[in-house]
Amino acid sequence: MTFSDLGLSPKVLSAVSDAGYTKPTPIQAGAIPHALLGKDVLGIAQTGTGKTASFVLPMLTRLEKGRARARMPRTLILEPTRELAAQVEENFIKYGKNHKLNIALLIGGVSFDEQDKKLERGADVLIATPGRLLDHRERGKLLLNGVEILVIDEADRMLDMGFIPDIERICEMIPFTRQTLFFSATMPPEITKLTEKFLHAPVRVEVSKAASTATSITQRLVKSGNKPWDKRETLRNLIKAEDADLKNAIIFCNRKVEVSELFRSLLKHDFDAGALHGDMDQRARMQMLANFRDGKLRYLVASDVAARGLDIPDVSHVFNYDVPIHAEDYVHRIGRTGRAGRAGKSFTIATRSDTKYVDAIERLIGTKIEWHDGDLSTVTESEGEESPRRGRGAPRRAGRKDEDRKDRGERKKDRHAKRDETPEVPREEQPVAEVADIAERRARKDAIRSENERKSSGNRHEQRGDARPQRDRPGRHREDDDATVGFGDDVPAFMRIVAKV
Ligand code: AMP
Repeated sequence: MTFSDLGLSPKVLSAVSDAGYTKPTPIQAGAIPHALLGKDVLGIAQTGTGKTASFVLPMLTRLEKGRARARMPRTLILEPTRELAAQVEENFIKYGKNHKLNIALLIGGVSFDEQDKKLERGADVLIATPGRLLDHRERGKLLLNGVEILVIDEADRMLDMGFIPDIERICEMIPFTRQTLFFSATMPPEITKLTEKFLHAPVRVEVSKAASTATSITQRLVKSGNKPWDKRETLRNLIKAEDADLKNAIIFCNRKVEVSELFRSLLKHDFDAGALHGDMDQRARMQMLANFRDGKLRYLVASDVAARGLDIPDVSHVFNYDVPIHAEDYVHRIGRTGRAGRAGKSFTIATRSDTKYVDAIERLIGTKIEWHDGDLSTVTESEGEESPRRGRGAPRRAGRKDEDRKDRGERKKDRHAKRDETPEVPREEQPVAEVADIAERRARKDAIRSENERKSSGNRHEQRGDARPQRDRPGRHREDDDATVGFGDDVPAFMRIVAKV
């Protein structure tokens, strides 16, 4: 089957051909003909299957007739996160390059003014996160009774994020005569109920089992003691052991507080890391993501919410710093690697208290995951309960002093972090400056570092025969850079001590 068999308009076909796509993916082949006929579609597909084009292409074709009116968008696409919304906008720009369409992106973390102007001009395509959409509506800037096509994307993620009541409200504001295209990677009962309420005789297109994992991914479990400092050490050792094969990696944590803690710890240990979580402001998140995509950052620490659905091609490694509590998140996480048949590796750090979550994952994916270096039976209780570094009677290694000090600082923070046991419920419209600040400091530090490197280290690499710039190497202290990231200017004296790792 080719794209021209699907019934798309010549303008859309030309843009698809310019994008270099020759063959529709299964979700595209299954959904597009029905979507073009105006039918409701229930697409069960994960990201990475080409599902965005499966709604963008027929929408573009259908939008060729008619015009938008002020404050009355003709189509509405709901996305759970700002990044996904921005990615859908990119798709409309790419495939809609032969159309003159007004696209409005309504997401939190940016000012209302520009968004108001776009709505006032009349939007053919409105892409929004639920919270910001409702804000605009409540401010009287938006009427939803002109919407002809409604897309609800990543519905199961909307459920995880607590957006279902908002989605129900929005569905009720849009005329009953609309077409609804509904996408979800999985179909938990709440989502099935939603489809029964808001879809009319939908055509169901299911492209692959939601719980399947790509065969090109090597999956391993890695044993660890259960204290944060144990897990961080396990992670660092793993990363170092994988260094030769590791192009870039996403490191997943279950909670945003762990994202922040781990990110700071990795920076302290000189890993080239960035962080992404649901509370960062939009600008910082986009910048962080762009840096990772462009290879300026080698490691991205992320929560599920922030990373869901992001199209980051060619990630060589996924590390699960925490075993995901929802087994389905495991499938989504490791799906960030091994894309398009490329080889990928995933390592999941597991402690004794994670056993039930590991069992649930193995039940879901229908296979046992191999242990990397022995299973948890070799982790003694004391390792699970206590830092091996503080192990009774263990000889203190020379040069570990400041490492221990660093970790004491981290432990203190962990005690605070532990109090915040709330699972991550992202508040999209509530930017938190902390990680963004760190990102900014990091950018400043990078600028200083580049300048220093330019001045002094160019031929040092040549002399040593280093293939990669030194900043890409984990675990090395940079002598030309004594600025500390993560504490700003308020750096405790012990943090200035040169660490030998
Ligand atoms: P998505 O599932 O929408 O996130 O798409 C995943 C990736 O597949 C994106 O990078 C798309 O650009 C790409 N893609 C979409 N449709 C096709 C196609 N028919 N052939 C090859 N790649 C595609």
